[in-house]
Amino acid sequence: MVEKTVFKKIIDGELPADVVHQDDLCLVIRDINPQAPVHLLVIPRKEIPSLRDVGPEDRELLGHLLLVANQVAQHHKLSDYRVVINCGLEAGQTVWHLHVHVLGGREMQWPPG
Ligand code: AMP
Repeated sequence: MVEKTVFKKIIDGELPADVVHQDDLCLVIRDINPQAPVHLLVIPRKEIPSLRDVGPEDRELLGHLLLVANQVAQHHKLSDYRVVINCGLEAGQTVWHLHVHVLGGREMQWPPG
């Protein structure tokens, strides 16, 4: 059997997390290793390894994740913020369960490293 990802364990209540939002499609947690004063992860309950694995059936879910990203950013009083999805090893993905980073509370650089 394939080992559950850390995010699947959090979704299943097997690992603790600082959950700031949850609904029937996703949850939002604080990143354990924050790269900005506010660093949140929007995680779909559905197990999708990476953005490259989504299909047309995920259209509504993907829209929901971005709406929630904005909602939690507003809730954390972020007028400016960055939304990131790392897709694949070379892009820096380390957890193979799709997630959307929401980072804010400091000035950002461009391009990212
Ligand atoms: P990525 O590198 O895009 O796959 O992002 C994975 C993110 O998950 C990293 O920013 C990690 O710091 C974060 N992370 C890993 N384990 C945990 C955990 N148990 N709770 C919260 N965030 C985590």
